[in-house]
Amino acid sequence: MPLYEYRCRACGHRFEELQRLGESAEKVTCPECGERQAERQLSTFAAAAASGSLGSFSSGGRGGCGSGFT
Ligand SMILES: [Zn+2]
Repeated sequence: MPLYEYRCRACGHRFEELQRLGESAEKVTCPECGERQAERQLSTFAAAAASGSLGSFSSGGRGGCGSGFT
């Protein structure tokens, strides 16, 4: 089961959550404020790669699809 990293859009709290197949990020509740506005981040390896290689790992997105980014 994959472990995903989420960031709450309501309070900014970051946490990790196991996600089952078929579940969407919308079902993930922030343990800090209880809002269901968790946004799935790129997996931890991406953050590690970014910090370890001067951010050459460039992702043109924010880990979500269609999050109002125009
Ligand atoms: Zn929150």
